[in-house]
Amino acid sequence: MLPGSTSSRKKRDGVKRDSRSVEISRLIGRSLRQAIDLYAIGENTITIDCDVLQADGGTRTASISGGFVALCLCVSRMMEEGIISASPILRQVAAISCGIVDGKIVLDLDYFLDSNAYTDANIVGDNLGNIIEVQATGEREPFSRKELTMLLDAAEFGVRVVQSRQQLALKDKLAQLNIKPSIVIASSNANKKRELKNILGKNYNIISPDEIGFNKEIVEDGSTFSENAVIKAETLCRKTGYPSIGDDSGLMVHALNGAPGVYSARYAGDMHDDGKNNIKLLQDMQGIENRRAKFVCAAALSFPQEETKVFTGEVFGEIGLAPAGENGFGYDPLFVLPDGKTMAQINSSEKNAISHRAIAMKKLEASLKGE
Ligand code: IMP
Repeated sequence: MLPGSTSSRKKRDGVKRDSRSVEISRLIGRSLRQAIDLYAIGENTITIDCDVLQADGGTRTASISGGFVALCLCVSRMMEEGIISASPILRQVAAISCGIVDGKIVLDLDYFLDSNAYTDANIVGDNLGNIIEVQATGEREPFSRKELTMLLDAAEFGVRVVQSRQQLALKDKLAQLNIKPSIVIASSNANKKRELKNILGKNYNIISPDEIGFNKEIVEDGSTFSENAVIKAETLCRKTGYPSIGDDSGLMVHALNGAPGVYSARYAGDMHDDGKNNIKLLQDMQGIENRRAKFVCAAALSFPQEETKVFTGEVFGEIGLAPAGENGFGYDPLFVLPDGKTMAQINSSEKNAISHRAIAMKKLEASLKGE
């Protein structure tokens, strides 16, 4: 009978532990102690059981990564029961195995790969890219410093992927425990980045691709906002290992059959020349009475090994006869809201309460929390 199999925790039967089991327990303990401020839990001991029910390589790393989730659930319950008042969690801890098999770097080795690996490593890391423990062994022959660096790079990616799975398991508990998971947003537009940080920044560490050294341009060749959003989110997620958000947005004018649509940023030819775009829009709308328009945003959320989800938001208004207002960006000075003000005449917090992006992002945030 396992310790959790009775209503009050029962002591383990006197199973004699071999040295491997002791070594692995100590590694798990060392790793998980880094996740928590031990002073903050007072005179309490948290015991985490890691019973291997089905083994196919990577048991110690799975125990650390799963053990972290168990630790979080335990601490969450301690908070709910008033045993502790604040979250003692300091950082998100996860582990991954990696190795060199047939001259190639591989992650998360199963038993077959593990037994064929020339070099075999287990890396424990946190959510800031820091290393907690490295166990690396030249199983069949020594390995070079360069190979170790390659293993560490691969493991950093792997730890991010495992952390995204922890995030999916913990969902709304993350905010309670003060854990701010990192999410990459696919935007180089400073205005949009600021808006997204305002909307999601309270609970998530919003990072832009350039902050993690990803500077390649993603070709947005979809024919709808949703397609473009998915292309961006999935590319970033695949390349970085982080949960990623891709958004695509723009203006659709009823009398122009939905134009500028996906071409909103380059309506007048040059990318993101807001001034020229607005002049062209006014020209195209000359003499047109029906000035109904909407801002549309599609936000795609991509988690490693999960199907991408898309959320949309729309704001309805009309195209004004002349620009008005200094705030915002893009077509804001021409977009007249039902109360007569343009989107550029309201301040950023007012815009963030009603904007197409805010609506889409709120739906996305609810999904992140598991609602
Ligand atoms: P994106 O950066 O590819 O999503 O391009 C969006 C383009 O649509 C921007 O360059 C703007 O021209 C326009 N746009 C999107 N959202 C807004 C907004 O909130 N206000 C004004 N223009 C917007």
